[in-house]
Amino acid sequence: MPVVSLAKIASSPAVTAGDFTVPCIYGKRLVSNRVSFGNSRRRSPVSHRVRSELQSPRVLGSVTDLSLDNSVENGHLPKGDSWAVHKFGGTCVGNSERIKDVADVVVNDGSSRKLVVVSAMAKVTDMMYDLIHRAQSRDDSYLSALDAVLEKHRATALELLYGDELASFSARLHNDINNLKAMLRAIYIAGHATESFSDFVVGHGELWSAQMLAAVVRKSGLDCTWMDARDVLVVVPNSSSQVDPDFAESEKRLEKWFSQNSAGKIIIATGFIASTPENIPTTLKRDGSDFSAAIMGALFRSHQLTIWTDVDGVYSADPRKVSDAVILKTLSYQEAWEMSYFGANVLHPRTIIPVMKYDIPIVIRNIFNLSAPGTMICRQIEDEDGYKLDAPVKGFATIDNLALVNVEGTGMAGVPGTASAIFSAVKEVGANVIMISQASSEHSVCFAVPEKEVKAVSEALNSRFRQALAGGRLSQIEIIPNCSILAAVGQKMASTPGVSATFFNALAKANINIRAIAQGCSEFNITVVVKREDCIRALRAVHSRFYLSRTTLAVGIIGPGLIGGTLLDQIRDQAAVLKEEFKIDLRVIGITGSSKMLLSESGVDLSRWRELMKEEGESANIEKFTQYVKGNHFIPNSVIVDCTADADIASSYYDWLLRGIHVVTPNKKANSGPLDQYLKIRDLQRKSYTHYFYEATVGAGLPIISTLRGLLETGDKILRIEGIFSGTLSYLFNNFVGNRSFSDVVAEAKQAGFTEPDPRDDLSGTDVARKVTILARESGLKLDLDSLPVQSLVPKPLQACASAEEFMQKLPQFDEELSKQRQEAEAAGEVLRYVGVVDAVGKKGTVELKRYKKDHPFAQLSGADNIIAFTTKRYKEQPLIVRGPGAGAQVTAGGIFSDILRLAFYLGAPS
Ligand code: ADP
Ligand code: ASP
Ligand code: MG
Repeated sequence: MPVVSLAKIASSPAVTAGDFTVPCIYGKRLVSNRVSFGNSRRRSPVSHRVRSELQSPRVLGSVTDLSLDNSVENGHLPKGDSWAVHKFGGTCVGNSERIKDVADVVVNDGSSRKLVVVSAMAKVTDMMYDLIHRAQSRDDSYLSALDAVLEKHRATALELLYGDELASFSARLHNDINNLKAMLRAIYIAGHATESFSDFVVGHGELWSAQMLAAVVRKSGLDCTWMDARDVLVVVPNSSSQVDPDFAESEKRLEKWFSQNSAGKIIIATGFIASTPENIPTTLKRDGSDFSAAIMGALFRSHQLTIWTDVDGVYSADPRKVSDAVILKTLSYQEAWEMSYFGANVLHPRTIIPVMKYDIPIVIRNIFNLSAPGTMICRQIEDEDGYKLDAPVKGFATIDNLALVNVEGTGMAGVPGTASAIFSAVKEVGANVIMISQASSEHSVCFAVPEKEVKAVSEALNSRFRQALAGGRLSQIEIIPNCSILAAVGQKMASTPGVSATFFNALAKANINIRAIAQGCSEFNITVVVKREDCIRALRAVHSRFYLSRTTLAVGIIGPGLIGGTLLDQIRDQAAVLKEEFKIDLRVIGITGSSKMLLSESGVDLSRWRELMKEEGESANIEKFTQYVKGNHFIPNSVIVDCTADADIASSYYDWLLRGIHVVTPNKKANSGPLDQYLKIRDLQRKSYTHYFYEATVGAGLPIISTLRGLLETGDKILRIEGIFSGTLSYLFNNFVGNRSFSDVVAEAKQAGFTEPDPRDDLSGTDVARKVTILARESGLKLDLDSLPVQSLVPKPLQACASAEEFMQKLPQFDEELSKQRQEAEAAGEVLRYVGVVDAVGKKGTVELKRYKKDHPFAQLSGADNIIAFTTKRYKEQPLIVRGPGAGAQVTAGGIFSDILRLAFYLGAPS
């Protein structure tokens, strides 16, 4: 089955050359409509344009259009494929240099006729609205603000024009400014501006930019006319404070305009502004120039509409919010509409309808990067069997500053007209309902409106439903402020099962609470309402889940000592590979010790973290640190890695997990601490999507916890776990051979750094007891550390020694007892080993010195290795044994690191 390849959509390397091939299907035949950016225009003999135009009797077909080529000279409106429509946004004409670049693009486009729609210079429309605001607030600083507007355009014109062109533009500019001054004075006196006054004032930015651009194009010797779109575009205000184009009337006026102006083949028209049928100046509302261009495209039946802006095309998400967003090569009209409606302001949502009617493709391109091919928006691309191509989810968009309104009550069920009453009340106050969701129980209707409109909505609803509220038929009209909408858009979602499951799963894993959900029955989008502060995190979480970007984790490290420091170095060395190969971006945004901490939103430079801690570290504050790690709105998931042995820090885990911060740790204090606290954490973990990993608490990097879990999860039954859990004690007894004394081996181990600074910490057996407690609890026993019998190897009289030195000095006095035990064992063909035991059958644990036959695996150990034997229902004859180095900074840090990566995989990184 032949499949249309997206690779077929050839990109144009530059504005002056190359074409797009738009594959398109009608019936079962694939044809290709080549749309040009440059001189090399070619068209397939049959195009869907022709077909759609033949279906529409009002519309002149594109084939006949070509015969109208000479009609300009006759003063008639020529229409059709010979026209290219370009729209340049405010940033494209932000200063004189940019205006020159735009003129170059216009000049170099090889289409035979060009209609260019231009926005006001960047920020000018805001300045114009500000003038009105000042004047109607009776603030006479509108005068100086108007001077700034004048100065901006005067200076730009001076840099661009000279001679007659400059003189005539300057005369027009000064004249306009004088008129504006008079008008603003009137507004100042009245303290009020009518809508038509405002619309007249704010539209000046486009009048000036269009005239300047036309003059610059003329400088290159081409014939170029500017068009005041108020003479042509007629729009009718509608009930939702928007305007609707009157195409028939606009077409008439366009004919008239052509008959009155000896227009050449390049026309520069103002965006944004238009007239009412009564010839009153009006606008297409904020960001309306895209819409102007689309209407022009439809009026001229142009072969393409190119919207030039400051980004390479439509991204899979707002590039200001998701740095890994990718450019979409193509979008269907429907997808583009959904993206723009739900907040992707790269395109005004109303741009689609006028051009869609004539199948005119829209291309979004970057004026600052002409080599980028841009995004092509056209009819849905399908293969021969009508199968839609491309990813199920194309992109994500968000809308901020919303409030949710929840109308709730048992009296709504089965009562016809409730929804209509609600929405007619909302309509009366002119509020714009962005999303609606109703549960099938009809118990509640919930909808989102812009925050600034919610007060009026709430008042209207309370007044409309006063009786129902008083009578208890409605229980409440609840307003939930500070909300945002997050929408996933993609036409192929309709035919792909599981998309919403993946979407919601990603949100759950990022610990995002969803306030409301809606899925249009077109299934082209899934929309959720979330708290505003969660919105960017939510956006990034879903974006990365659909493999559009990396899994990014905000990492906070507590305790950059030997282990924490080694971990930081390991992350530093592995970061590039993780990013490239595993799509995991570990961003260490905080490191805290007990006195200093270092915070960095973009991630600490791990090649210099030690110096940075010293030079730029601030006073450590664990609450601030936690807030920082979690409060980073740009990274969906946060993890705190506790590399301390501190019980206080461990007591915060519950709170962190509750706040949605994942926890990774080698610190044994939480899992071997008070039983009720441990059970609370485990309970929370089971209920939430927040993860808590602690592999390195037992056996450092050895897979002990994970082996145990694997056994339990697959239905095995643990009978006994027995092992040498302490690297130090392993070393001591592995080397306690021949005629060496025990104190001698301890001194050697201390010297080699194998013991804690005070060896009693190892010899007391508490550390082993903690590990036994952890494994016992992991196996389901409810054991407490205190209840565990622990055989201490610290002679009783030495427990009170004030220092490690004193202890070491006195230890030889007690050598005899252990030497005796060793000799007895040896006589029986056995060795001494200090072991921990979890007896799952007898539901107890012990830590003691035991004897093992010389051929027992525990007797074969060397160095400081750990060895752990799991005896289970499945591994009954031969226990399952895990053996290897169980201490040391490198292996412990490695164990922690692999937990962090496990977390990243759980959160959606490809494995
Ligand atoms: P113009 O002045 O050219 O009309 P806009 O500011 O209206 O430009 O729109 C372009 C901006 O839209 C970009 O700079 C980008 O920050 C923003 N934007 C938001 N969402 C998207 C998206 N999904 N893809 C591309 N740009 C987006
Ligand atoms: N200049 C207008 C605005 O800023 C229209 C536009 O640029 O799209 O809203
Ligand atoms: Mg725009």
